[in-house]
Amino acid sequence: MPLLPRRFERLKAVLNRRMADLTVLLEHVDKPHNLSAILRSCDAVGVLEAHSVSLKGRQPTFNSTALGSQKWVPLHRHHSSEEAIRGLQSQGFRVFGTHLSAGAVDYRSCDFTGPSAFLLGAEKWGLSDAAAAAVDQAVVIPMLGMVQSLNVSVAAATLLFEALRQRQAAGLVPSHGEGVPAERYGRQLFEWAYPQVAAWCRDQGRPYPQLDDEGAITEDLPRTLRLRC
Ligand code: SAM
Repeated sequence: MPLLPRRFERLKAVLNRRMADLTVLLEHVDKPHNLSAILRSCDAVGVLEAHSVSLKGRQPTFNSTALGSQKWVPLHRHHSSEEAIRGLQSQGFRVFGTHLSAGAVDYRSCDFTGPSAFLLGAEKWGLSDAAAAAVDQAVVIPMLGMVQSLNVSVAAATLLFEALRQRQAAGLVPSHGEGVPAERYGRQLFEWAYPQVAAWCRDQGRPYPQLDDEGAITEDLPRTLRLRC
């Protein structure tokens, strides 16, 4: 089935609103329903890509809660929280650790209009000590009830939508693709439009083909691959 021009326009419209400078880093958040719900919120607010730290050999799994969001929000996997946090900080991100500690500040007093990463912890244990020590700022969502913490996906959604609210109020939400680095834009669009061809190109170590204005691939591809498009 070829990509319809209308579908291509929709992919571009969504990519045009993506923000590379807003992300989550999930530390051992392995339950499929939580991972799925968090990626769904990321997609909803316009996060370009998310990050996770998981034990070696453990593949992230999603369930129907995601509604396919994992296709639209790539999840980059890291083996260590410290390395992932340092990597984000070296790219200019301020890493906010969602830590229920005494030093944590109310999330509503923070400025999330600059490059912001929310570090979220495992359901049972929360953040590791090493991760909590490496963040730039510990934040908390104040709660009034008997239970001490929110479900991690609820905490993620609360923070992400606060970041979106602040950016909308400041007129900082992209609308024409300016939130995605130029060299990334075409690559991401191709991966969304033709995931199977993109995977084949990566296996072959070859660049993605060019697309025309209506989203059609401009070069000849092997017949078996064309049938899968
Ligand atoms: N016993 C764990 C602890 O002490 O951190 C509870 C973990 S909680 C169920 C899972 C994750 O959700 C936390 O690591 C944090 O990332 C996030 N979270 C839950 N409630 C939160 C809140 N009120 N403020 C900020 N983050 C919260």
